[in-house]
Amino acid sequence: MLVFAAETSCDETSVCIMAKNKKIYSHIIYSQEVHEQFGGVVPELASRAHLEILQSITKKAFKEASLEIKDIDIFTATCGPGLIGGLLVGSTFTKSLALGSKKPFVPVNHLEGHILSTSYNNNISFPHLVLLITGGHTQIYLLKNFQEIILLGETIDDALGEAFDKVSKLLGLPYPGGKELEAKSEEGNENFYELPRPMLGKDNYNFSFSGIKTAVNLIIKKNKIDKYFIHNMSASFQKCVTDILLQKLKNVILNLQNKNINISSFSLVGGVANNKYIKSNLSRLKHSHNVDILIPEKQMISDNAAMIAWACIKNFKNKNPDLNFKPNPRLKIHD
Ligand code: ZN
Repeated sequence: MLVFAAETSCDETSVCIMAKNKKIYSHIIYSQEVHEQFGGVVPELASRAHLEILQSITKKAFKEASLEIKDIDIFTATCGPGLIGGLLVGSTFTKSLALGSKKPFVPVNHLEGHILSTSYNNNISFPHLVLLITGGHTQIYLLKNFQEIILLGETIDDALGEAFDKVSKLLGLPYPGGKELEAKSEEGNENFYELPRPMLGKDNYNFSFSGIKTAVNLIIKKNKIDKYFIHNMSASFQKCVTDILLQKLKNVILNLQNKNINISSFSLVGGVANNKYIKSNLSRLKHSHNVDILIPEKQMISDNAAMIAWACIKNFKNKNPDLNFKPNPRLKIHD
């Protein structure tokens, strides 16, 4: 069984051809650069870029794989959540391929793609926790199995990736800011600025990052912005949000333990999982709570079509082919 997948929910245009046995025949991720000059993703420009690039990378993917469209058994695309323009471009394009070759089209949820991404390169033992950190979402899930995915908590305002971008913008760093801020933090003192750590209550699994950004802004107004300030603030911000993630995971693990639900591993997924400081600090849960950290393969961390193909393959028995499925910018995990 061969699957063709397209991912166009934000500013990455990606396609993948994957076999049921996990073999990747081709996987192309095109990161749109048009947004850099605006300091953030411009939805209208993103849809246009998807439209311009999708056809050419699809041709390239089939060429690389030495396959033809008629060899594909199932077509799948991200149908939400995400920017509606991009979702429409990717799903309509893929539906037309399915229609033309008389094969089924299976809609896939972008979040499910991230959540299942670590099961591609790891054996998951249940119950399992997933911490999803991206530019659009910050969520903790409990997986009873690959179909029963329960949302335990999420951000009530900014997503973590968004907070990274906003703080780096305040510090005058170029977009996308997450990587820049991480690099600057390496030379800073992480204990230099004490930033607020909101919503750390024991039974609260939600996050709030917008107050931290406001606190950073207030400190910026009272200080001279030189390279030492940027280094120290970057390090202090990164430590603050990492402390919050770590404490939330500890709370969840201990509260579940009290209900006789023992977690032996958790997955760290989504674009912000590329951050080495966050990854290494969260991996300390192995020593403190005997909980292993699982990370997706590098090509399946930021937005990509391989995780969409994999989610389609992994949960295929629970999915209904539906050529008329309407993309939904606010699609939930169980819609
Ligand atoms: Zn994503």
